[in-house]
Amino acid sequence: MSDTQLEGLKWTVRHAYEGSEFYRKRMDEASIGPDDIKTLDDLKRLPFTTAEDLRAGYPLPLLSVPADKVVRIHSSSGTTGKRKVLAYTQKDIEDWTHFFSRALKVAGVGPGSRVQIAVGYGLWTAGAGFQAACERAGAMAIPVGPGNLDLQFQFLVDLRPDTLCCTASMALLIAEEAERRGITKKIKLRRVIMGAERASEAMRRLIKDLLHLEHIYDITGMTELYGPGAGIDCSYHQGIHYWDDYYILEILDPDTLEDVEPGEVGEMVVTTLRKEATPLIRYRTRDLTRLIPGECPCGLKYPRHDRILGRSDDMFIIRGVNVYPGHVDEILSGIDAVSSEYLIEITREKGLDLMCIKVERKKGLAPDIDHDLAKEVRLRIKSSLMVSPRVEIVDYGALPRSEKKSKRVYDYRQQS
Ligand code: ZN
Repeated sequence: MSDTQLEGLKWTVRHAYEGSEFYRKRMDEASIGPDDIKTLDDLKRLPFTTAEDLRAGYPLPLLSVPADKVVRIHSSSGTTGKRKVLAYTQKDIEDWTHFFSRALKVAGVGPGSRVQIAVGYGLWTAGAGFQAACERAGAMAIPVGPGNLDLQFQFLVDLRPDTLCCTASMALLIAEEAERRGITKKIKLRRVIMGAERASEAMRRLIKDLLHLEHIYDITGMTELYGPGAGIDCSYHQGIHYWDDYYILEILDPDTLEDVEPGEVGEMVVTTLRKEATPLIRYRTRDLTRLIPGECPCGLKYPRHDRILGRSDDMFIIRGVNVYPGHVDEILSGIDAVSSEYLIEITREKGLDLMCIKVERKKGLAPDIDHDLAKEVRLRIKSSLMVSPRVEIVDYGALPRSEKKSKRVYDYRQQS
């Protein structure tokens, strides 16, 4: 793969340098140019690109082709400030569809499959991406879009799709509601392909059990990197295979921006190898993960990284300890009597950081276990994170459910 990568890196650097004033200026400032890229190690000399660079270049940031070559734009949610707008050439759409359908094939989707697509259409990348990839894979696309549970169930029962694509929160909502309505036996789903959100082991187990699934697949991707489909786990579920023929993945320490030790958690930094309209050079994704060494039993030649373990922005420091939500997920998933849902609240009292975890008791269990359960959660977290939290056990279903991404961490320290 290194030949393809070197060729792609050389092409990308020259393309960006010649096509984008932004990239040319950045590279000139770093005293590096297209002729300096001779080996893959030269990647390390290139300057980083950030989400702020994308926002600053609104409305068509990092554009490296003439505007009349752009056939589509997508945009990510603009929770703060300007939206990030990403442009696509015809070839970019084709490349995206190609590797996205590769991801669906890894999950076993192909001719004869029926795929209910319960993700956002429109400016979002998810709907358009799933739709095109699903058709390319030869499957039947059922483009229901997000929300609207009645419509979801109508098609789940009447068209009997074998595959559902949605966020983890939406999958949980559908699974719990199907059980409440007593229609799980009428639903013939075999797999759920979940993207856009981290999901704990406990949440997966619950969704898998309620819907009688064979597999839950994690699909990765972000608008900046075409959209979803940039990687997926195979049916061995030992990490996410990512497409190293389309992008180079570096795992860096978010503070020092140096490589982490092999297998350590760090920030994903991506460099595209073929992207025309909006190429990415060392783009800081803020997503945390680690590389998984060795070969996968499935035999796929694509390398693997772990599930997304959180965002470097969501990482919080409490009493000097780095904590990321993925870590808390892992700990809670090892405790039988809690559900998948939890919230973390961080406050400061008398100069001391306090972490309070609210976690749901598992469905069907009575509150008389709360005292012992809270103690167990406290001890497990303390032995793993070296921080002793306050633990509150709440009823099953008491914490908010969301159709999009569930917010887990509420840090009130800045306000006090
Ligand atoms: Zn595999």
